[in-house]
Amino acid sequence: MKALVAVKRVVDYNVKVRVKADKTGVELANVKMALNPFDEIAVEEAVRLKEKGIVTEVIVVTVGPTVAQEQLRTALALGADRAILVECADEVQPLAVAKILKGIVDAEQPQLIILGKQAIDGDNNQTGQMLAALAGLPQGTFASVVKVEGGKVQVTREVDGGLQTVELNLPAVVTTDLRLNEPRYASLPNIMKAKKKPLDIKSPADFGVTALASIKTLKVEPPAERKAGIKVKTVDELVEKLKNEAKVI
Ligand code: AMP
Repeated sequence: MKALVAVKRVVDYNVKVRVKADKTGVELANVKMALNPFDEIAVEEAVRLKEKGIVTEVIVVTVGPTVAQEQLRTALALGADRAILVECADEVQPLAVAKILKGIVDAEQPQLIILGKQAIDGDNNQTGQMLAALAGLPQGTFASVVKVEGGKVQVTREVDGGLQTVELNLPAVVTTDLRLNEPRYASLPNIMKAKKKPLDIKSPADFGVTALASIKTLKVEPPAERKAGIKVKTVDELVEKLKNEAKVI
């Protein structure tokens, strides 16, 4: 069975993001970019299923600019077999990504489609759910355990206050949570091998998608700056300040 994994190029999670001076978005010039961490977990899960002999081919796909090939090569170095770049320079929103992924699902007929639960840039947490709806497929979101057996997949979901295990008929959409697995590091030989793996380039129009944006960002603002703290000399002074200045006791 084929597994399709959707990955996104995002600002590296170690980078302290800065809002652009004109508040139209986040500064991306000269900023380190990486594979979205939840997507790395998605690739790892698909590769582990391949190593167990359950999955036969792992296809990774991204919708993004030409440079997003870097993240596809990373996914190939982690063990994916081939990659598809749906190239577009403009920002793509979850609905457009989901429509494009639906086109790829129709063309490739994967049994398992794995996405991250959210991309850490926009924190949308929408694409997997929208894809499942558009493709008419069952979904298991926020997965912390995935077991594929006899034409079905069992997904243990991290829900508020506990775990819920659901069983879905394949084909199905699964989105990964943080505790699903710990992704491996790509070894140097695998990074070299990844350079030779197939990478197809498509356009959104190949999947009948022309409108990439239906939401306009009006303003992006950084969190309010915290006021500097002060040091108090005695417990009495602390109590006095908590009572009369902070008014919390
Ligand atoms: P989001 O709904 O934007 O929070 O993203 C959820 C998941 O959808 C991500 O973890 C990716 O697996 C997938 N995804 C989002 N944007 C893209 C994109 N441009 N290309 C490929 N996959 C994407």
